[in-house]
Amino acid sequence: MTKAIICRVALAIPLHKAFDYLLPDYLAEKLSMPEAQLVGCRVRVPFGGKRQMVGVICEVNPTLDYDIEKLKKVTQLIDQQPLLSDKLWSLLRWAAFYYQHPFGDVYQQAIPTALRQGKEATFKGSEHWQRTASDIDLDELKRAKKQHQALTLLGDQCLSTSDLKVQGITRVTLKALHDKGIIETLDKQPKVNLSWADNFTESNEKPNLTSEQALAITSVNQQNDTFNCFLLEGITGSGKTEVYLNIIKPILQQGKQVLVIVPEIGLTPQTIQRFQDRFNVPVFLKHSALNSREQLDSWCHAKMGSAAIIIGTRSAIFSDFKDLGLIILDEEHDASFKQQDGFRYHARDFAIKRAHVEQVPILLGSATPAFETLHNALQGKYQHLHLTQRPGNAKPPSSSLINLAGLPLQSGLSPQLIELMTKHLEKNNQVILFLNRRGYAPVLMCHECGWLVKCGRCDAFYTYHKSANYLHCHHCASTHPIPHQCHDCGSTQLMSTGVGTEQLEETLKQLFPQYPTVRIDRDNTRKKESFNQYLTDINNGKYKILLGTQMLAKGHHFPDVTLVALIDVDGALFCNDYRASERLAQLYTQVSGRAGRAEKRGQVLLQTHHPEHSLLQELVNSGYSEFSRHALTERQLAQLPPYSFQALLRAESENATLAESFLGLCKQIIEQISSLNKIETRLFVLGPIPASMERRAGKYRFQLLLQADNRALISNTLQQALPALDKLPEGRKVRWSIDVDPIDFV
Ligand code: ADP
Ligand code: ZN
Ligand code: ZN
Repeated sequence: MTKAIICRVALAIPLHKAFDYLLPDYLAEKLSMPEAQLVGCRVRVPFGGKRQMVGVICEVNPTLDYDIEKLKKVTQLIDQQPLLSDKLWSLLRWAAFYYQHPFGDVYQQAIPTALRQGKEATFKGSEHWQRTASDIDLDELKRAKKQHQALTLLGDQCLSTSDLKVQGITRVTLKALHDKGIIETLDKQPKVNLSWADNFTESNEKPNLTSEQALAITSVNQQNDTFNCFLLEGITGSGKTEVYLNIIKPILQQGKQVLVIVPEIGLTPQTIQRFQDRFNVPVFLKHSALNSREQLDSWCHAKMGSAAIIIGTRSAIFSDFKDLGLIILDEEHDASFKQQDGFRYHARDFAIKRAHVEQVPILLGSATPAFETLHNALQGKYQHLHLTQRPGNAKPPSSSLINLAGLPLQSGLSPQLIELMTKHLEKNNQVILFLNRRGYAPVLMCHECGWLVKCGRCDAFYTYHKSANYLHCHHCASTHPIPHQCHDCGSTQLMSTGVGTEQLEETLKQLFPQYPTVRIDRDNTRKKESFNQYLTDINNGKYKILLGTQMLAKGHHFPDVTLVALIDVDGALFCNDYRASERLAQLYTQVSGRAGRAEKRGQVLLQTHHPEHSLLQELVNSGYSEFSRHALTERQLAQLPPYSFQALLRAESENATLAESFLGLCKQIIEQISSLNKIETRLFVLGPIPASMERRAGKYRFQLLLQADNRALISNTLQQALPALDKLPEGRKVRWSIDVDPIDFV
């Protein structure tokens, strides 16, 4: 008889523990590897009644002390070797520890959906369609318009389901044709090109480098065979992408792979195109809009080495590579790199850790580096590279403030701004107006008594959406019909107050009927294709006035934009979140950076009721670089991050007392541990206090903040506290979570 093999399995459940299963004899006998190599293999196991779950083995024979009869059995051993590389595996173990998140869930989030479901880690290929030999007169399908269209598109080619979907042909149509025997399917395996490095070539179309670019590139290329973290701080339009391409080149020539991480909104066709056009190597994408086949294929290409470049959003940082040579994180300050629920990792921090473990260089690029990053660069932990000029004749825009006090406004537009817009538009240039508030108006108010229409589930007002004709809460997503009368005084005179993008668009169309306006916000670009279509149309000059929320702020290159105006940012000046000024400064700089990116000089205008405010003065007169260094010294005086480290425990419940008292118990446990460890003078536990929006979606929300001068104090204390926190019966009555290095306190 073979010796019993017990597997400790991590499952994607919200519990900080793994479960033991017996590997049944018939599976143990077939095992083609040493037992220890079971660690990292996926298994299917029974869990809670009849359910079967996919999990991963994280230990083999953890103890010998078992009543084997009582153990449940592994149903299926999915992998015959560990799925992920050792390095990636150990990084995921580290992330689970550092972010205090159950390893089973960390692991599942790091692999594509198909693998989470237990599918084999091989190319799925994609479903293709072609016409059969059967003769058909197209006229017979006249009445079935879609089928007719599908056949016309197919002609005598073979197209994939997603190619056809882009043309508006659904699977239902294809199925109907298939049932009639007119078309047939075939599975096409993707092209696996492992020899891209041998046939490496580079496009001739590339600019002459500026001396700053050349210097930055040389600095990286001279030390690109080991771990080094570089911060490329380059003003908007200074040609950071050109630097990326030049440091990618020698890596690819050595046959090593490159990972490029971009913010969610940055993954536009223009960005991808720039990478695809430069080198004749296979480029693959990794983002959430891919279907599960495409995701798996992309994953396999990276793992097998047939992807030379992977470009992706946050989660691409978990791709497994055959031979990774370089990581680039573009717009490294972007908030979308932090996952805000569940496994709350920060892709930048994980990327740096990863580069270190893999011993490869990493380059962080931004015009507005996050304070954390800047601090590390200024301290000499990262190598600091600078681009302070735009190439060619492009000059940074000039900036000025408009004092709104007492001015007559039209949907928030001052007369000065309207006049200036006219000037720029008459020269056939484009204008960007930035307003970070979608909807028609942020509040609906009674004209007689001042009553405001509030969301019943949140501490927030409803936003008025005129064309959709409802009220919408932007915090819990609930909608409400527009009331006819005031609830307090019964008056029928309800009026909207404040300006949102929808209203501004209406006004712009009246003021500038001859200049087409486009609105870019989440309401208007629900589909990714429509956002991309807008970008193309903007670049083709179809629109002259571009109005939008921060979707418009990031990374886009619009050569004809010469005027950028920020309509209203005053809200951020008086916000109690210590990161608000950093964010405003980044936003201001990024939005301004859209002006004058080609030969034409740009102009930036900021409307405010507080022109004397020191933050605005500093930004307009000196720019982000000086502002950030100054603001960092303020953080240091206040001992705030990056000069200290934080973790936030959050709890929410329909019952305010439950949430608050649970955190009170957590605090006791944490303080006990810190006094046992004699670190109570270095680890501060603040709270519980209500979140700044105390009630959201019907739940009361509380927070407990841990702060220390050292990361390890926080992670070690939390690690020790976790078993006790997990056991608190009060914890079962509330929803609670831990956020390490929080960036959002709302
Ligand atoms: P950033 O990412 O720093 O905002 P980009 O990489 O988008 O800037 O570059 C801005 C523009 O400048 C692009 O059109 C790019 O092609 C161009 N560019 C970059 N480097 C050079 C150069 N050395 N000479 C001329 N044009 C350049
Ligand atoms: Zn009223
Ligand atoms: Zn709400």
